[in-house]
Amino acid sequence: MPVLVMKFGGTSVATLDRIRRAAKRVGVEVAKGYDVIVIVSAMSGETNKLVGYVEETSPLFDAREYDAVVSSGENVTAGLMALTLQEMDVPARSWQGWQVPLQTTSSHSAARIVDIPTDNINRKFGEGMKVAVVAGFQGISAEGRITTLGRGGSDTTAVAFAAAFEAERCDIYTDVDGVYTTDPRICEKARKLDKIAFEEMLELASLGAKVLQTRSVELAMRYNVKLRVLSSFEEQSDEAGTLVCDEEEIMELNVVSGVAHSRDEAKMTLVSVADRPGIAAAIFTPLSEAGINVDMIVQNISDEGRTDMTFSCPTNQVARAEKTLQDCKEAGSINFAELKADTEVCKISVVGIGMRSQPGVAAKMFKVLSDEGINIKVITTSEIKISVLIDRKYMELAVQALHDAFELEKAA
Ligand code: ADP
Ligand code: ASP
Ligand code: MG
Repeated sequence: MPVLVMKFGGTSVATLDRIRRAAKRVGVEVAKGYDVIVIVSAMSGETNKLVGYVEETSPLFDAREYDAVVSSGENVTAGLMALTLQEMDVPARSWQGWQVPLQTTSSHSAARIVDIPTDNINRKFGEGMKVAVVAGFQGISAEGRITTLGRGGSDTTAVAFAAAFEAERCDIYTDVDGVYTTDPRICEKARKLDKIAFEEMLELASLGAKVLQTRSVELAMRYNVKLRVLSSFEEQSDEAGTLVCDEEEIMELNVVSGVAHSRDEAKMTLVSVADRPGIAAAIFTPLSEAGINVDMIVQNISDEGRTDMTFSCPTNQVARAEKTLQDCKEAGSINFAELKADTEVCKISVVGIGMRSQPGVAAKMFKVLSDEGINIKVITTSEIKISVLIDRKYMELAVQALHDAFELEKAA
């Protein structure tokens, strides 16, 4: 039988009613003759609640216990989805990550998938089971501990299953009907794209467009998974949603395809550090070992052998980053006059493959922001994206102004 992977995100399984609606969609595919692997997220809000419990109990928590707690939301929905399907006379059963077993690295809270053995589930398909419901977001490490794949990780579970089972398609059902030129919740002119190239989707995802987790796009690209994003709230045809595909499959590439934002960024500055060989390694190695996701990095020009070093990281990692750097200072491996944290910033990015061959996009972006009176604090660029850090209060304004300036309402 051909295999189909269907993933339902948090809002799509937020209530028993919505689980029933999702199960009906699964039933439609079963009726077409597919063996279906359903990946479920936790009910909407549930993972945030669990993360809150952990942070309140232990601010600098042990990541292994964090995973034990936050992975649990998916267990509930996997069981409920299997029960709902059984009530509809569709033969189904649930699997938690460790039962598959979905093996991962031991980087707790940000684990990577190592292997998905297919024999267990395939044997059940052979015995007449039609739907395997798998709890997304979770796996098991070589040490036998429960791991999670990072926020939004059920998308990655879904794509990894699609690759492992050579599924015909991986359909990501969510609360919007596809990938848009920007987050439709903050720009009403946002336009749905019929197709988006893997590379653009990869940038948009890593720059904050949370509609797909970055790793899921990477995996889809590597294993050539046919990946589609569509709404669980509307009736769907086979052409619905957005197809994430190779750039060769897209006729006309846009110079700019999308604007992404990442709300919870912090800008940290080490004031007056010694400007000597090895200083960047002395700062960023311990941060990386502490699991801090450092993003943009700027080193200022040096003055009398001292310099300022600025970097950005997620706001919820500021306390850990501060502790790590203060510990380094006490141990004597780095020295700085002051450590400043600006936790009221956000990152705005424009992304487009067409930028490779069209100069002037950065200049235009800076002009648009300056016309709105928005100050740019940090800039980084790559071949197909430009990102800036700005004050968070200007986030919506910046996204809308850039969407207008690059005429994304006309994008297809
Ligand atoms: P799920 O719970 O189904 O995994 P998410 O909340 O993780 O859903 O992702 C869907 C959300 O992503 C949408 O509700 C939307 O607000 C947001 N989003 C951000 N950028 C985009 C974009 N470019 N296109 C579509 N949705 C986007
Ligand atoms: N429930 C997890 C989260 O909220 C994983 C997911 O939904 O993809 O991050
Ligand atoms: Mg998600």
